[in-house]
Amino acid sequence: MTLTAPAWAIGDALNSERFHHLYIHLPFCPHKCGYCDFNAYARLDGLMQPYLQALERELGSAAERFSFGPLATVYFGGGTPSLLPGQDLYRLLARIRSLFEIAPRAEITLEANPASTDSQKLAAWREGGVNRLSIGVQGFDPQALAVLERRTDGAQARRTVRLAREAGFANLSLDLIYGVPYQTLESWQETLRQAIDLGPEHLSCYCLTIEPGTLLHRRLQKGQVQAVDSDVAWQFLEKCQSELTGAGYRRYEVSSWSRPGFESKHNQSYWRCRPVYGAGCGAHSYGLWGDSARRWWNWARPQDYISSSGFVEDGEDLDPRKAAAERIMLGLRMVDGLQAPPGFESELDELLAAGLVSRTADRIQPTERGLDLHNQIALAVL
Ligand code: SF4
Repeated sequence: MTLTAPAWAIGDALNSERFHHLYIHLPFCPHKCGYCDFNAYARLDGLMQPYLQALERELGSAAERFSFGPLATVYFGGGTPSLLPGQDLYRLLARIRSLFEIAPRAEITLEANPASTDSQKLAAWREGGVNRLSIGVQGFDPQALAVLERRTDGAQARRTVRLAREAGFANLSLDLIYGVPYQTLESWQETLRQAIDLGPEHLSCYCLTIEPGTLLHRRLQKGQVQAVDSDVAWQFLEKCQSELTGAGYRRYEVSSWSRPGFESKHNQSYWRCRPVYGAGCGAHSYGLWGDSARRWWNWARPQDYISSSGFVEDGEDLDPRKAAAERIMLGLRMVDGLQAPPGFESELDELLAAGLVSRTADRIQPTERGLDLHNQIALAVL
């Protein structure tokens, strides 16, 4: 059966605001980690080549149908993009360059897993134009990594950072997870210190959420693991803030810390509700038509994506009010906040009274408490 795109996806694409940001989803993983609810698949390596062909078809069609400006960011996410053979990623980058103009100082990021990163791949990524790596370290504590069922360890993470520096990467981000069952405050502090010792330009620290449908959730339901108490999770976050700030990093978003000038440009495009074209299975795109927005998403399963005729599964239109509400909600993830759009005075007054935001001239910004309790901001605004 050929899956077809909904009629609305074919309409007025060329009249959208121009896209300057491109996301590419590569869904392959060597195995499925116990906590993972991303659109990622193990044991599907046989689909890699047909998938890459479909991806190139989608990119070719997007370049014809939509208006793209020079790309300011390209982001390869997954899944495990580093699993791809180096020459395949190089070819994909060459195809992107042939279809789109890339801005001179564009940020080109690739998510790399230490277990599938080596010198040859790093050289191919560099040569292809990748200039930023987001390394999925997640932790250095063997017990926490075992609970997450990550098949990497601290030694691999250290080796990856060393090889990446040798290959010339000057912009590295490390992902870490806290609030893992059995993780202690001391082991989390030690993890932060080991991460800081590696000298990354950027760190993303996420609180573990145990999502239904994951292996970890089944283990939780069977009583084989215990979720971390929210008070304890709060202490982990405080530790994060004190250690990273003490080491000279600035928290610029709910879960992101960086050296000045190394804030993730691609992620900021999401938080600022800029148009982002997402290619690949399950990828989401966000386009602007004046004050209105439209979000659409591709078929999630790689097999469906490959065999579909138009790649898109479905989407939704956001009227100006809904689009503005999302802009506030996402903009208040960033310390810099945003210029508040009109029409949300009572919601913003409520947030001011709760101490979750502050107002300076015409800008609205989250307080530290607002960053920590961002879900309350989202509830009030949406
Ligand atoms: S490597 Fe990442 S995307 Fe792949 S299964 Fe593990 S958590 Fe999920």
